[in-house]
Amino acid sequence: MAATIIDGKAVAAEVRANIAELVSEFAAAHDRAPGLATVLVGEDPASQVYVGNKRKQTEEVGMRSIHHGLDASTSQADLLALIRDLNAADEVDGILVQLPLPDGIDQDAVVRTIDARKDVDGLTPISAGLLAQGRPGLVPCTPRGVMELLGHAGVEVEGSEAVVVGRSILVGRPLASLLLNASATVTVCHSRTRDLGEVCRRADILVAAVGAPRMVRGDWVKPGAAVIDVGINRTDDGLVGDVDFDAAKEVAGAITPVPGGVGPMTIAMLLSNTLRAATARAKATATSSA
Ligand code: NAP
Repeated sequence: MAATIIDGKAVAAEVRANIAELVSEFAAAHDRAPGLATVLVGEDPASQVYVGNKRKQTEEVGMRSIHHGLDASTSQADLLALIRDLNAADEVDGILVQLPLPDGIDQDAVVRTIDARKDVDGLTPISAGLLAQGRPGLVPCTPRGVMELLGHAGVEVEGSEAVVVGRSILVGRPLASLLLNASATVTVCHSRTRDLGEVCRRADILVAAVGAPRMVRGDWVKPGAAVIDVGINRTDDGLVGDVDFDAAKEVAGAITPVPGGVGPMTIAMLLSNTLRAATARAKATATSSA
C-alpha cells in the first residue's frame, strides 16, 4: 500500500493560524506585538528571498518585523555592536541573523553574541547545550518542524528506532537530540557511515538531511516506516529531496514530499520560537517586577 503523504504546507498553515491567535492574545495582554529582528548582511539573492519570506510571514501572524539590511562591507565590529543593541532592545523578542555571512566575518562569533533568550534560530552554544541536556530552550526551526510533522502524522516516537542521516549543527544534531529527548533510540549517520542502506533499513523513523538528490533509495526504507526528507536540491528536474520519493512512497507508511514537506515548516517554527521567546521574556519581566 502506498504511503500517506505528509502535507507540510497544510500543517504549516495550521500552525501559523494558531500562532496568529496567540499573538493577538499576547498583544492584548502586553500592549505590544512580539517583535522579530532580521539581520541581512550583503545582497545574496537567495538570502534576500528567505529574509523577505520570513518578514512577510512575521507580519501576517500579527508580529512586528524589524529589519536591518547591512552593506556587504559591514565590519564584524559593527555587526556585533548591532547584535548587542538588539539584545538590549525591549521591542525585540527574537534575533535572526541570516546565514551565511560574507567572507571575513566570523559567523560563530556573531551567533555566540546573540542573547540565548532571543536565539530564535536555536544556534547559539547555550541553546544547543540546553537541547543536548534535554532542558527547555529555543530549538532550531527545521528540526522542530520535523518533530511537528511526525506528531501530525501520528507517528509514535517513543521507543521507536530513529535514523538521522546528516550531522549538521543546523539539522542533524539538534534533530537527533529532539528524537532522543522524545525517547526514540537514535542513530546518526554521516559521510563515513558504513553500510548506510543497512542502517537506514532498521529505521521506524528515517530522516534524510544530507543535500544529495534522491540518495535514499526505496530499498533502504523499512516497510511502514515514516520517512522525512529535509533535503532541498536544485536539479535539472526541478527541486528534489534526498529521498527517491517515487520508490520510497511504495514502501513507507508515511512520507514527506519535496517541495511541500519540511520546507514550509521552518518559517512556521521560527514564528513559534519568536512567540515562545516573547512569552518567556514577558514572564521573566513580570516575575522580576513582582
Ligand atoms: P550540511 O551542513 O551540508 O550537512 C550534510 C550532512 O550530510 C553532513 O553531516 C554530511 O556528513 C552528511 N553527508 C554528506 N554526504 C553523505 C553521504 N554520502 N552519506 C551520508 N551522509 C552524508 O547540510 P544541512 O545544512 O544539514 O542540510 C541538509 C539538507 O537539508 C540540504 O539539502 C539543505 O538544503 C536542506 N535544508 C532544508 C531546510 C528546510 O527545509 N527548511 C533547512 C535546512 C537545510 P559529514 O558530517 O561526514 O560531512
